[in-house]
Order: sequence, then structure tokens, then C-alpha cells
Amino acid sequence: MTTRVWDYLPEYEKEREDILDAVETVFSSGRLVLGASVRGFEEEFAAYHGVRHCVGVDNGTNAIKLGLQALGVGPGDEVITVSNTAAPTVVAIDAVGATPVFVDVDPRTYLMDTDQVAAAITPRTRCLLPVHLYGQCVDMEPLRSLAAGHGLVILEDCAQAHGARHHGRLAGTMGQAAAFSFYPTKVLGAYGDGGATITSDDEVDRNLRRLRYYGMEDRYYVVRTPGHNSRLDELHAEILRRKLRRLDDYIAARREVARRYAEGLADVGLVLPEPAPGNDHVYYVYVVRHPRRDDIIAALKGYDIELNISYPWPVHTMTGFAHLGYGPGSLPVTERLATEIFSLPMYASLSPDLQDKVISAVREVVSTLG
Ligand SMILES: *Cc1c(COP(=O)(O)O)cnc(C)c1O
Repeated sequence: MTTRVWDYLPEYEKEREDILDAVETVFSSGRLVLGASVRGFEEEFAAYHGVRHCVGVDNGTNAIKLGLQALGVGPGDEVITVSNTAAPTVVAIDAVGATPVFVDVDPRTYLMDTDQVAAAITPRTRCLLPVHLYGQCVDMEPLRSLAAGHGLVILEDCAQAHGARHHGRLAGTMGQAAAFSFYPTKVLGAYGDGGATITSDDEVDRNLRRLRYYGMEDRYYVVRTPGHNSRLDELHAEILRRKLRRLDDYIAARREVARRYAEGLADVGLVLPEPAPGNDHVYYVYVVRHPRRDDIIAALKGYDIELNISYPWPVHTMTGFAHLGYGPGSLPVTERLATEIFSLPMYASLSPDLQDKVISAVREVVSTLG
């Protein structure tokens, strides 16, 4: 049987009763859209973060898109972010008519190199969009002081960092707003698509609620455009409420998987993930690095182990973003990483047996590379 890089079925086995009870709760509630479950989840997710507001939306991409619009970012504005991210980060910036501006990443953490941000700021810059990639936070202090000094807003992309901390502060609480995805693979995942944007700014919250609801504040009357239909479903909200209570357990389990990898693979010559000082990593994915990545992946196919590459193409090299004008070599660290990184199976309910199988296969393959 193939060892999958991610699998929700072992978790569903354990939680089946609770998940099906959530389904029953919603189906028998008499209200399927924007009801008690969405409201309850929003309150609980905001409370988890110690922020004033959470607005549930239909997916993480729209959590970013509506977040940007709620902060007043739009056509003509530049948003500084990274190319080493999931494409939707950049798709969302593009979708609001703003221009993505890329800085390179740190060669150890693979996260935004904050030393490069100051030089990327122009009179058009409106927003800094750090991506807390793979499960740990970008170094936020330099970004916060740049934002304060230049009158910029910060929107955090927390799609991979639910529950991650930076010097004790939760991801999503260090800027004006933060976007989360609840795509099933994420650290907090729904049984389908979902997302949320959180903020402590009352005006941003009001904007978000209007933006996700056609531009309406009350039924049938559009107050302001743009408007979207980007509501979080009751069904996913109720499942997410149940799972939010276990979020810290999922994170603890992921850390234990990471600990076992670090122990089992310490001496094989792979570069393992390195939490930056002050960071509590939640290991959304377990990214390792080796110059012979492609040979390793090919050899591991013979062991029936599925691997992933997050991400094989830096966003700036994709034809869809050619118009941004970043040629080959413009973000050298990002480009090099894309040829060397790959991820090992990682999810909270990954069994020690399966993990041991992965560890011994990786050890065998890497040590016989020749
Ligand atoms: C998953 C992800 C998104 C998009 O979320 P969806 O729910 O799939 O739309 C955005 N940014 C990052 C970093 C992601 O990992």
C-alpha cells in the first residue's frame, strides 16, 4: 500500500462520530447558510487568536483577496511578497488589480528575506504580505517597523501556519489582518474548501462582511462594490468548530512526527527544517533539501512512498506571471530551492509504523546515491 504524503482517512476514522454529529447538527438546524455554526466558529477562531473579529469565507485565496480589498488595496498599488509560496497568494494579489512585488527568501528558513524589503518599497507600495510558509513565521519585527515608517498595511498569509507562534505571538496577530485557508490538507482543515480573515480593526471587519456578501450589509441592498459571494458554509464551519478544539493536539502530533524525522534522519546528509529563533513551528509540511532531489524522488517510487514538492515552480517563473517581468536569475535563492526541496509525508495522524517505513527508505536511498 502506498504511503501517502497526506491522508485524512486515519483522522476521520478516529473522529467519525464527532464529524458526523457536526453534519447532523447543521442538516437538522433549519439554516444552511450564515447561521449559528458560522457565527460560532467565527467567535471561537477569533477568541483562539485573541483578536476582535473573524470573518469566515469560502477559501484561503478569497480570504487573501477580500483581506486586501478590506484594507483598501487595489489597482495601482504594489504588494510586497515572495515568489516561494503557493501560487494562490499571488493570484489573490493579481485578482484585486494590485501588482505583486517579489523579494527573495532566506536560504535557511525559505521564508521572506526581510532584509530585502526596504529596497523593494516604492511610492506605490501599500501592503506587505508575508507568507508564514511550511508552518513557521516570517521574522515580523523588521516588517512591522518598515510598515509603521512607510504607512503600509500588513496582511499575513497564514494558510500554512495555524497555531504557529513567533516570540510567543500567534501567526495572524502581527499585522492589520490575516488570511487563513481550511483546505483539507492544512493544519486546521475542513472536509472541503473554507477560509477566514481575522482582524482587530472594526472597519476592516465591516468591509470583509460586506465583501463576502455581494457588497450588501443588509439583505437585497448593495452598499458598495466590489462584492462577491464568498461565504463559509455552515457545514464546514461546524466541522471546523469541532476540529478547532483539537487544533493544539494536531500541532503537538505534527511536532512529534517532526521530532521523529529529525532523530531518524539526522545523519543522512539531507537538510532538515530549521525553526528560526523565536519560532514555534507547526510543520504544515516537512520540507527537506538535497542537491540530488530528483534522483531521490525517483528511487523512493520503488518503495511506494509518495512525496511532494512545495513548490516545483517559483511563481515568478510561471507563464501566468511573465508580465511581471522577473527573468531567470532574478530571485536566485527561490529558484535554487525549487530544484532541491521535497516534502516527506506529514500529517497529525501519520502512524509511527508508516513513518518508520519512510525513515528507513529515505536512509537507504540517500546513503546509496553513489
Ligand atoms: C493553501 C494556500 C492558499 C490558498 O488557500 P485555498 O483555500 O486553497 O484557496 C494561499 N496561500 C498559501 C500559502 C497556501 O498554502
